Amino acid sequence: MKLLVATSQTQGERANDFNHCVDGELLWIAPCCGDGESSPDSECGCGRSFGGLNSHLGTTTALVAELPGFTYPDYAEALRSSLAAQGWPSEAADEVATGLLAFAFGWEVGTVLERRCDLFVERLATAPPG
Ligand SMILES: [Zn+2]
Repeated sequence: MKLLVATSQTQGERANDFNHCVDGELLWIAPCCGDGESSPDSECGCGRSFGGLNSHLGTTTALVAELPGFTYPDYAEALRSSLAAQGWPSEAADEVATGLLAFAFGWEVGTVLERRCDLFVERLATAPPG
């Protein structure tokens, strides 16, 4: 199935990019704080980032990836334990999993996405810097 994973691809295209996740780590789209909601370029950064399920850290770039053999129960369980570990209500895991799968379904595998609060945009490949 198609999921969002952390990627370093296109990192640096925005001056305020960051990637504290491990490449390939499963991601989720966490709700923003007030600061993040006011601007995706806020200092907090949550309005432009995806959250890593293992690292509990953020990245501004997400890759749409096909993970063969990975199933819905695997995914819901990964979300459940990660939400619980981060202090989010773990009962929300199924709803979050369903939402994220529906979201990823709409994009082609290999697409790199960025977040602008509630808006998600494909990063088009550009020439590497330098
Ligand atoms: Zn925030």
